[in-house]
Amino acid sequence: MIPVCDPNDGPGSLRLLEELTSNADQVQQRLLKEILTRNLDTEYLSGFLQGGTDRDLFKKRLPVVDYDKVKPYVDRIANGEPSTIISAKPITELLTSSGTSGGLPKMMPSTEEELDRKTFLYNLLIPVINKYVDGLDQGKGMYLLFVKPEISTPSGLTARPVLTSYYKSSHFRNRPFNKFNVYTSPDETILCSDSKQSMYCQLLCGLIQRDEVLRVGAVFASAFLRAVKFLEDHWQELCSNIRTGHISDWIAETSCRNAASGILKGPNSELAELIEMECQKDTWEGIVKRLWPRTKYIDVIVTGSMAQYVPLLEFYGGGLPLVSTMYASSECYFGINLKPLDLPSDVSYTLLPNMCYYEFLKVEKGEEEEEDGIIECNSNGEAKVVDLVDVEVGRYYELVVTTFTGLYRYRVGDILMVTGFYNAAPQFRFVHRRNVVLSVDTDKTTEEDLLNAVTHAKLLLRPLGCLLTEYTGYADTSSIPGHYVLFWEIKGPPPPISDPHRHVIEECCAEVEARLDSVYRRCRSRDRSIGPLEIRVVGGGAFDALMDFCVAQGSSVNQYKTPRCIKSKEAIDILEERVVGRFFSSKVPHWEPFKVQTT
Ligand code: AMP
Repeated sequence: MIPVCDPNDGPGSLRLLEELTSNADQVQQRLLKEILTRNLDTEYLSGFLQGGTDRDLFKKRLPVVDYDKVKPYVDRIANGEPSTIISAKPITELLTSSGTSGGLPKMMPSTEEELDRKTFLYNLLIPVINKYVDGLDQGKGMYLLFVKPEISTPSGLTARPVLTSYYKSSHFRNRPFNKFNVYTSPDETILCSDSKQSMYCQLLCGLIQRDEVLRVGAVFASAFLRAVKFLEDHWQELCSNIRTGHISDWIAETSCRNAASGILKGPNSELAELIEMECQKDTWEGIVKRLWPRTKYIDVIVTGSMAQYVPLLEFYGGGLPLVSTMYASSECYFGINLKPLDLPSDVSYTLLPNMCYYEFLKVEKGEEEEEDGIIECNSNGEAKVVDLVDVEVGRYYELVVTTFTGLYRYRVGDILMVTGFYNAAPQFRFVHRRNVVLSVDTDKTTEEDLLNAVTHAKLLLRPLGCLLTEYTGYADTSSIPGHYVLFWEIKGPPPPISDPHRHVIEECCAEVEARLDSVYRRCRSRDRSIGPLEIRVVGGGAFDALMDFCVAQGSSVNQYKTPRCIKSKEAIDILEERVVGRFFSSKVPHWEPFKVQTT
């Protein structure tokens, strides 16, 4: 049973939160029983459990799995086999994750009922933020929300990103009115499939209603900053539209245009001047506060890979609190931040025990928190798996979930650290995603993806008689959009950066991009949320200097391996000082919505 959380009933919702967190173990046990009982006859579970629903049996018999074990089942459903191979309830859609497998988005099964669970979590966010910020019922939220393309599987199921699924659902579109959830963006502007028209109209509506805006946000920090950049590029046109009362003709998507026109109503030269005055100023520092003066906070996720955007958000936000409200994924929505005004570096999420069944693989960390660490095993070589209420403060874990949608003991890939408990429910800091070395937006490039792309690209150097001897990279997010920077040390005559070689290395940039996964290429070509990839060629010995630095920081000389991504400013500076040439990709990589393999 999914509990009902009425966002208009603050005290009732908070009581519910107390109950759930105080009885975390009981809720988890009940929930596992429900999942197992309900799905006992599925092909997957019956193969392991043969009718049992006992927690110990579940733990003993069911393997902890990665996506490669889930994929065959998902593919079979995508190709027309019944959902009952994994789930008693019909799988109604597939959610395309930003995590990829074989270059394509992983697809997570979902059911109609799961939308209720998501709505429950969204509703719970409201009383929590109301505890810390007053008067949010006195105005609107300017949330910049977008939908992405979807595909149809051979069996006719829709496959799309989880947020696209939610925004298109009746749960979002027919949401009951509640005074804390009034947005400046009409649904038609959010649901517009042309991302540029959608962005333009949402900003236009946000500017027109600026006096009512009490909070601004997007899902991830990168998306919000992209909106600020869009505003930087389009404020004159937006102001001209406000002045004349006429929306630019290129806004052609009818429902989006009509909805924005309904907000614009007519000419408003006074407002246009006010906005122009702010945008014309020499600096855009504090622009969010200046354009939306009643704003109390910026609601964006700034944990995990999004932490890199905190300085830019602070610059544009002029000191507005940055609030990361929730932790969720395509697999399931997990938890909420019970202290929304905490600094980004202190944010912890409390996993809600009624969302799915959580287990945790113990991870032994090395010196570097960002490194993946080693999964701890017992004397039989089996990974140590613990339950939600048994995690220990200060320790690192990898999250494993069993959901209502057909995932059983599935490794999500996120590494979390326990910071404390709220009642009996543990709270976690998001540390990083396993294997991921580069991320600018929702892209998650792994060490393997990068190696594969570089391996192909470096072949282009061969005709020049040059060899790639070392490489590493980092996500440069000092400007918007951010982009990948790869440092390459190249050996061989003639000097690799002279003019005839320039276009070859530019081609290498393009080749790396062409070989990266489909989420990277979508961000780069459709969403334009990642800029052209850059290769910085460094002089001979640069990577020796990097090794000297890492060893001086405590790495073992014998075990030293060139890191495939560098984060510390000092390490970047060491290579930066030795840069002899900078090259950018001059092609936008090809992207199209992927096709589901037919069996
Ligand atoms: P997706 O499957 O594309 O929906 O992406 C889900 C992933 O995004 C999670 O598994 C995390 O790695 C990351 N993520 C989601 N929420 C947060 C958060 N609040 N902080 C850090 N990372 C997050």
